[in-house]
This record gives sequence, C-alpha cells and structure tokens, in this order.
Amino acid sequence: MKPCNQCGKCCINYSNGGLSATADEIEYWELFRPKIARYVSNGSIWMDPSSGAQLEICPWLRRTEGTEKSKEIYSCDIYHDRPNDCKAYPADLSQMINDECEMLEADDIDNPKHGNARLKLIMSDSWSSLPYE
Ligand code: SF4
Ligand code: SF4
Repeated sequence: MKPCNQCGKCCINYSNGGLSATADEIEYWELFRPKIARYVSNGSIWMDPSSGAQLEICPWLRRTEGTEKSKEIYSCDIYHDRPNDCKAYPADLSQMINDECEMLEADDIDNPKHGNARLKLIMSDSWSSLPYE
C-alpha cells in the first residue's frame, strides 16, 4: 500500500452525484462556509448555484499540470472542510480494487488482510476525524 498520489480518480468518479453530506455538515457550511453552501441544493452536493443541477465535476477539485518528470496531480480546495464522505475514502480494499485506486500494490491484493491493515494505518488521521470513528 502506497500513500495517495493525488491521481484524482476518486474525486472525478464520485463527484457527479456519488457523494453526500450530512445535515450537520450542510448546516456548518451555511453558517461558516457560505461559499461551499452555495453548491448545495435540497441537501445534495455538488450542485450548480445558478440552476441547482448536478455538476459533472466537483467545483473544489483543482488540477495541477504535470512536468516532464511528473504527471498531473489533483488537490481539494476545501480539504479541511470537505465532506465526511471524502474523508472516508478509500474505505476498504474492495472499493480500491473496484475504483483502480493507485494506492494499491500487488501485495495488498495477494494478502488482503495485510492490505487492509496498511490502509487503516495510512488512513488513521483522516478516519479519526469522522464522527462515527
Ligand atoms: S470536495 Fe474535495 S475531496 Fe471531495 S470530491 Fe471535491 S475535490 Fe475531491
Ligand atoms: S484514487 Fe486513490 S490514489 Fe487516486 S486520488 Fe483517490 S485515494 Fe488517491
């Protein structure tokens, strides 16, 4: 298991209707992060502030061009205020295999027990900030 390389696949795959936010998160954004709350409509994220329609791609996903030596990387403009759904990703090996997450290494698939243990270690900070952890 490698650390996240910011390939952006998860954000790209899930931002078009695959993410949700809790009522508490939305209330927090409304009170303290109105810029984020603009992209919520009827409890759903991420929605066009003008039309209320589902956006194809998350408005907070930032793409940085790669160089000859490095490939492009993606980052989150609201990293510390991102939804718990985003903080929880990746949740387990099967999700990573399904999504072709680039944290995976061959050994994780050959030995899922150890793969999941390594994932737990890498994700400990992120998961510990979740309300149900
Ligand atoms: S809010 Fe951030 S982490 Fe979540 S999909 Fe958007 S860019 Fe990715
Ligand atoms: S798919 Fe995996 S490696 Fe790529 S950005 Fe998401 S968590 Fe990181």
